Amino acid sequence: MTDALDLKAKLGLDVFKTGGAPHIRIREGQERAPRLRRMPSLCPAGLYSEGDGGAITLTVDGCLECGTCRLVCGPEVLEWDYPEGGAGVQYRYG
Ligand code: SF4
Repeated sequence: MTDALDLKAKLGLDVFKTGGAPHIRIREGQERAPRLRRMPSLCPAGLYSEGDGGAITLTVDGCLECGTCRLVCGPEVLEWDYPEGGAGVQYRYG
């Protein structure tokens, strides 16, 4: 039955619990870093976006904790941790 769902619908079945502070943060001064500018097209949850001036912003609600941005950007660009215990994604499909 759920095999007919597209990716967006499947992601909509997941539950996201927000914790305290965001678990991923763009380091100050890195908003236009070339590696970070790749993320709007790489993040599977679509959480990165590019503003008018080319600065990248991130909203962590809905993060799949896949680690793609951590690997692509590295610790010089992102502070990356898993969410606090009890927060984050709960997969409901696949
Ligand atoms: S961990 Fe994955 S889903 Fe979360 S912000 Fe990074 S690329 Fe997007």
